Amino acid sequence: MENIKHRGLRKRLVQQLAQKGRFDPKVLEAMLRIPRHLFIEPSFLRYAYQDMAFPIGCGQTISQPYTVAAQSSLLEIAPRMKVLEIGTGSGYQSAVLTEMGANLYSIERHLPLHERAKQLLEQLTYRPRLYYADGYIGIPTLAPFDRILVTAAAPEVPSQLLNQLGDGGIMVVPVGEGKDQVMMKIRRCGNEFEIEKHGTFSFVPMLKGRE
Ligand code: SAH
Repeated sequence: MENIKHRGLRKRLVQQLAQKGRFDPKVLEAMLRIPRHLFIEPSFLRYAYQDMAFPIGCGQTISQPYTVAAQSSLLEIAPRMKVLEIGTGSGYQSAVLTEMGANLYSIERHLPLHERAKQLLEQLTYRPRLYYADGYIGIPTLAPFDRILVTAAAPEVPSQLLNQLGDGGIMVVPVGEGKDQVMMKIRRCGNEFEIEKHGTFSFVPMLKGRE
């Protein structure tokens, strides 16, 4: 399941990431520990530790490691924070946040992806709470969240999710239709929202409803 070759490749990937950007060291430490090769098809093992997105079925992709490092760093995660993720996908990003000590809730709209991520994360003894639902709705009954992460391209900032962000909380969301999105970091201060933009990324679209 995990051997010295995987660990070597992973170390190299994390070193490459550290050269490409300024990331939270705690994020890179978490990525060093998580066996990314288990989150993609075994026959594509050689791609697991390259800095690229990769198909995971249902027309979706596991986010590029650079993107995972960037989004996770922008979130400023501290242990025991209550975090909502939209777009469980492979579950890799969920593993990173859980490894960092977040108390994670993650929503996916594709049933096969939700089920596969659940099984794999349980095997790896990560225990985020996973939901098969429409992430646009969030989880109003569990709000407020300290952090909200959207891992699919939202045409505009999803207002129902903003309402579920606690005071002082941070939401990270890629916004824009078409090929490229702007990474937005939104901090809630009472009823004001401060927005910072953090570069251009490319995501699969955030879609309404469940499949
Ligand atoms: N965090 C994932 C990234 C997967 S790609 C990973 O690390 O692998 C984005 C995911 O968002 C896809 O699986 C897609 O099905 C899901 N998604 C898109 N719109 C959604 C919505 N409204 N609610 C929940 N999930 C959504």
